[in-house]
Amino acid sequence: MPPSSARIRPSRSPSPSPRARARPSTEGGGAGLEAIQPLGRRNRHCAECAAGPLALLVRADGAPHCLDCADLGHLVFLPRGDTALTRRAREASSLSVVVVRRNRRRRRYERQGVLVEEAALALAERRCLADADARARRRERDAARRAAEDVRFTAAFAAEIRTLFPSCPAERAERIAAHASRRGSGRVGRSAAGRALDAAAVTAAVRAAVRHDDSDYDALLMAGVQRAEARRRVRGVVDGVLDGWREARTPRTPRWPGRAEPRT
Ligand SMILES: [Zn+2]
Repeated sequence: MPPSSARIRPSRSPSPSPRARARPSTEGGGAGLEAIQPLGRRNRHCAECAAGPLALLVRADGAPHCLDCADLGHLVFLPRGDTALTRRAREASSLSVVVVRRNRRRRRYERQGVLVEEAALALAERRCLADADARARRRERDAARRAAEDVRFTAAFAAEIRTLFPSCPAERAERIAAHASRRGSGRVGRSAAGRALDAAAVTAAVRAAVRHDDSDYDALLMAGVQRAEARRRVRGVVDGVLDGWREARTPRTPRWPGRAEPRT
């Protein structure tokens, strides 16, 4: 039977409730219930039922007791290591016991895990799984949102190209916008000015595209011409294309109001 939610304490309650105070506190390992994994052979049998040797014992009145005699036999062991699972299991369990083992070299008891109610552990495991699922779902949503943003941004970028260069073919505008706004590319479209669709940034993206696609710029670079010199040589061609695109499109026919392509 799953524990009722009333038994689940908030993880960071400012002060323990009277009920929480009344039951044995296991916080900080101070006055809490403790079970020991014994090291030696001595005192490893239950003082009450003589069962043993015990792998786990509880000291009461100076004598070892088995978990059953200590009324803790219904608890299950959760090894240390998963902080979130441990915290949740202890919160959901009305009874929890810290399991310790003596470290002889360090001369101290070290925590090995906790004993909690099986239902509490199951609940805690479900919640941790749900958290992992929620994180995965959030990652998916974030990725989808970024993709949608990219699509919107690219469309806005293409629209701005078509505003500045009305005669630029729609397909070219879309290709330039997609190239310029590709996420993570560091291209002009992703700079602050590009995101704000600054006219100079949009023009720079168009100019770069025309330089590569409509001039000998790339061939000049391949031939070993310095970048500045190559740019100087193709400037006339590039400016010519840009000037042509800046001119207003040929008027659309009224019968085809949605037609975006200039008639050529
Ligand atoms: Zn016993």
